[in-house]
Amino acid sequence: MEESLRRQYLEAMGIDNWVVRDPVPAAVTEIVETAASSEPSVAQELPLQQVPVATGPSNQGLTSDLEVHNDVAELDWEALKSRVVGCQACSLYQTRTQTVFGVGNQSADLMIIGEAPGADEDRQGEPFVGRAGLLLNAMLKAIGLDRGQVFIANILKCRPPGNRDPHVDEANCCEPFLLRQIELVRPKVILAVGRIAAQNLLKSDAAVGSLRNREHRIGESRIPVVVTYHPAYLLRSPDQKGKAWQDLLQARRLL
Ligand code: SF4
Repeated sequence: MEESLRRQYLEAMGIDNWVVRDPVPAAVTEIVETAASSEPSVAQELPLQQVPVATGPSNQGLTSDLEVHNDVAELDWEALKSRVVGCQACSLYQTRTQTVFGVGNQSADLMIIGEAPGADEDRQGEPFVGRAGLLLNAMLKAIGLDRGQVFIANILKCRPPGNRDPHVDEANCCEPFLLRQIELVRPKVILAVGRIAAQNLLKSDAAVGSLRNREHRIGESRIPVVVTYHPAYLLRSPDQKGKAWQDLLQARRLL
């Protein structure tokens, strides 16, 4: 990649200073070049129709009425969104301001999947808004994409109170909606941002650090899943942006 273009992308991610302030960047640059040119290892091939791994304690108050989802796989976009809006399959409906269905290009090549709505998302009804959303936009810009060109969704469509981790039963209840969204979008690549998204999509309890920098595939279409850090985490740990940049290069290569 041209130096000027790479610098432009890195600036978009907010890591424009790494060359100046730290001797590490030379090594990082080398890693970036390696990531851009090398083949990642195939770690997992998983079907879409699996029960999510436990990522938190079970919620005893759940309805867990998965029968309401029996026909989700047949719904079109409009019917699917309507079903989500009215969903009461788990107890999160009691505390949400509104559901957060997902947003973006319904035929996108790249699908971004995050964890669950936070306070801003719950208020605005859109995933990845606020500071983390702005950083995600910059990350997308770094690989030459606008937010409107991708489809963005979460593991959960309703906000867990206090932004706690989703309970396993909640993820179970909500999974059919996400799987249908993936089927409808048919992305070339899924970017799983953060631990909860990666663990639920890949049915793993491994840390993000061990799931990233590998090639995972899910579903009958064997859609590649690239794992990276959540923008909210990158805001707290900006020294990890170099790794996120490697992940973005991997996603772009797969597109
Ligand atoms: S989180 Fe998902 S399953 Fe639970 S009420 Fe919201 S839309 Fe329904």
